[in-house]
Amino acid sequence: MTKRTSRRLLALLLCALTLSGCTAKRETASPPPAGAGILPAASAEETPDPAHKTTGIGFYFDTVVYLTLWGAPESLVQEVWDECARYEQLLSKTVEGSDVSRINQSGGETITVDPETWEILHRAKEISQLTGGAFSITLAPVTALWSFTGMETNTVPTDETRLAALELVDDTQLVLGENYTVTLPAGMQIDLGGIAKGYIADKVAALIRDKAYAGIISLGGNVYTVGVKPDGSRFGVGITNPDEPRSSKAVIYTEGCTVVTSGTYERGFNFGGVRYHHILDPKTGWPAQSDLLSATFVMDSSMTADALATACIVLGSEKSLQLAASQGLDAMFILKDGSVLLTDGFEEKYNYLPQ
Ligand code: ADP
Ligand code: MG
Repeated sequence: MTKRTSRRLLALLLCALTLSGCTAKRETASPPPAGAGILPAASAEETPDPAHKTTGIGFYFDTVVYLTLWGAPESLVQEVWDECARYEQLLSKTVEGSDVSRINQSGGETITVDPETWEILHRAKEISQLTGGAFSITLAPVTALWSFTGMETNTVPTDETRLAALELVDDTQLVLGENYTVTLPAGMQIDLGGIAKGYIADKVAALIRDKAYAGIISLGGNVYTVGVKPDGSRFGVGITNPDEPRSSKAVIYTEGCTVVTSGTYERGFNFGGVRYHHILDPKTGWPAQSDLLSATFVMDSSMTADALATACIVLGSEKSLQLAASQGLDAMFILKDGSVLLTDGFEEKYNYLPQ
């Protein structure tokens, strides 16, 4: 990253912090220093009034994390960063010694993992089943063939390597045993990139609920709002316009729930005049080709919403609407033709405001 791009990113971050609402949009192109959370400059105050606002920016899981708190002790910001750092050490596939790395290096042996890792794996398998494999954490050997983070090394895998890697994708082969044991057949690999940030957003939201008057955590596509603004009104959450990712397609007003968006615009690269994005179809190993540009779920579990939103990009609008209805969930889908599909009652429930 050049000094110029990092300065530009910092300016963007500061700019974003001045917004009173939050947005499901992410900034990932040029990360600031890894693992660093910027602490607020405000004075320490252990029992601030509800209107006292504190903000912070961190960088974890290759993602810029925004935190805004109302009526919180200053120490809560550091507590949140400590939690993010702890989960990164546990769940990142690029951190040596993390549970995910240990599973990937287990060579078919059964290993014991942290109960939290086990819980995420359990939910991931359930969602894989629910979505007919559209969500698959064993997709890792295929994602490894694509490079969606480094600008210089973007490549399109050959058919041979892609098809060989696809042979290794099957979440039913991941066996979860008693006492938090995990067995993954030799050669297979997992990646929690489509679900872990949701789990962490849930945990951070619980921390905020316990210790602050209100707050917002925005972790990539995962936004969690806790409580209401000091004036009693709801938080507005912008749903990114996929054609214009710095602007919102709509704003919705939520209270105490998560808004999670997966979008094809988030990460990707152009090669030979074609754009390749980071959500892959586990059946083909190619970027998902459905009619959807983005999928948003509004619900209580950010972990479930995260995995479902990723799966919907693969499934397309028709199956995604059926899935949301069958689970009784509120969802919003933006199609390639620019149209928006909402589940029943969505507009009224969240004061849906097109932009
Ligand atoms: P982001 O990580 O950009 O917020 P998502 O939540 O949609 O977006 O997750 C995408 C990430 O999940 C990818 O970067 C990759 O690591 C992984 N992934 C990609 N496609 C799938 C899929 N079909 N099932 C499960 N995980 C996936
Ligand atoms: Mg996801």
